Amino acid sequence: MSTVSASPSLPRAVAARKLASQGQRLGGAVAQEVLPRLMDAVLESGPQVTVELQFSAEEGGKPEIHGHVETRVTLNCERCLKPVELTLAAEPALGLVRTDAEAEALPGRLDPCVLPGEDLDLFELVEEELLLALPIVAMHEDVSCQPWLAGVDDADDTQSPFRALERLKPRR
Ligand SMILES: [Zn+2]
Repeated sequence: MSTVSASPSLPRAVAARKLASQGQRLGGAVAQEVLPRLMDAVLESGPQVTVELQFSAEEGGKPEIHGHVETRVTLNCERCLKPVELTLAAEPALGLVRTDAEAEALPGRLDPCVLPGEDLDLFELVEEELLLALPIVAMHEDVSCQPWLAGVDDADDTQSPFRALERLKPRR
């Protein structure tokens, strides 16, 4: 992706419609500490969010913003209640509109981004995308974080790990 103008940090406010008419691409990082709602929602957060946004405008269409937002966070595993680190990622596909009525007229492939004025708050956009990407239930991928669950594999009446152990004992 040689067209990415990599910058160390993403600006907070941008003239989104102007960027769209110019077909600009923005890439950069956002520090997680400027995203308070995300910080509240997670146990721990990585240092920053990686952001790439392509602004575009088709002839006669609304300005659009497409991109990728990604970061690492730590949540509580619902199974073992210990911290689990995971990647939050989102692929925003937004149509920039001025009113709710315009938002309703957008094609289904676009989520509305209602902006009556000119300056778009990118931090808010990034935070919103990440909050939507939060899993409803966070869990370690490996069920071994709760060994007695991992042990229950084949379906029979042995729901108890002790029964499972009994089966391993030599019978006489
Ligand atoms: Zn776990």
